[in-house]
Amino acid sequence: MISEKMIKLTKSNSVIRAMFEEGNRLAEIHGRENVYDFSLGNPNIPSPDAVNNAIVDIVKNEEPMALHGYMTNAGYPAVRAAVAKSLNTRFDTSFDEKNIIMSVGAAGGLNVVLKTLLNPGDEVIVISPFFVEYGNYVSNFDGKLVIVPANSEDFQPDANAVRDAITPRTKAIILNSPNNPTGVVYTEESIKALSKVLKEKSKENGEPIYIVSDEPYRELAYDGVSVPFITKYYKNTIVCYSWSKSLSLPGQRIGYIVIPGEIDEYELIFDAASIATRILGYVNAPALIQRVVAKCLYEQTSISIYNTNRELLYNGLKDLGFDPVYPQGAFYLWVKTPCDDKEFVEKAKKYNILIVPGTAFFCPGYARIAYCVATETIERSLPAFKKLAKKLDLND
Ligand code: PLP
Repeated sequence: MISEKMIKLTKSNSVIRAMFEEGNRLAEIHGRENVYDFSLGNPNIPSPDAVNNAIVDIVKNEEPMALHGYMTNAGYPAVRAAVAKSLNTRFDTSFDEKNIIMSVGAAGGLNVVLKTLLNPGDEVIVISPFFVEYGNYVSNFDGKLVIVPANSEDFQPDANAVRDAITPRTKAIILNSPNNPTGVVYTEESIKALSKVLKEKSKENGEPIYIVSDEPYRELAYDGVSVPFITKYYKNTIVCYSWSKSLSLPGQRIGYIVIPGEIDEYELIFDAASIATRILGYVNAPALIQRVVAKCLYEQTSISIYNTNRELLYNGLKDLGFDPVYPQGAFYLWVKTPCDDKEFVEKAKKYNILIVPGTAFFCPGYARIAYCVATETIERSLPAFKKLAKKLDLND
């Protein structure tokens, strides 16, 4: 018998596979252009030219043994120093290479951090709705996921609810802003309120409760909204960043972990996270792409297309009588469903619209529409949404 945990996962995974297969099935019947697949958060904007230019330049000019060899598990010191400098420039921090570990995307970073922090049975708080993989990552290290609903008005974290959920076993809280799936950016006020609670409770527990800040959408914020840099508000913060979305590089698997010097047990945590990188089998973040991102630290994909999509979809759905949350960041529209969310998703499918029910993010009554698609897909989908609204009697 193989791992029972994995047997369970193969069963639950089939929901996602079924959606993918459904998209293909519908495309065969109706033609790909008549299927509106909003199910995946896969960036559709190409990486900036600087990325490919950097790859060519590095491959042409770098000494092959230096380029392809093993390295220290935390990543190239020069790359880490460059990342630290870019953070200091943008956030007025004072990091250096000893605060940065290069990671295999945000997913790799989160697994490294959770392996570093958790003993079996330790509790990790997540704010629902949340990126569903958090449950798997916490379970990888026999931690216990504790789900605390966001404020239902504005989807900001609810500091009082977090306070009530903290126990002597609480080791960490994962925050994600800009948020997948709501598109909400956590305000400075929310971060301050949470920090206050975590400071009080850490003191009461006699052990730090760490914030793990998952930030793959940091640069995807619209209208100049500011995304608070959490290490500045709460010293026991570990940041997991990724270039998957900001440079449209999800397949390259590259990101970094920030471990601030002022964190409790800094040296132990940094050493443990370096070892975790090795023994989880990553060994180190991919060599070539580490050097590439170091040359592209001030680049990002043009978010104007996501912005156009955001406006088109939000206004389009609002006009049809739907009730979406206006996204401040990321590339997801979070919509209240006028009926049971799974039923809503099934009804949408009848009009070739593929979206994800809120239940998948532990928040029933909503659905997520990923608008990292061609703008024409959104334009063409609006008549289908109109038929869906009519079916649901939304404007009556
Ligand atoms: N965290 C959140 C909130 C995400 O939405 C994603 C990917 O969609 C990840 C982490 C994983 O990102 P990466 O590709 O960098 O591993």
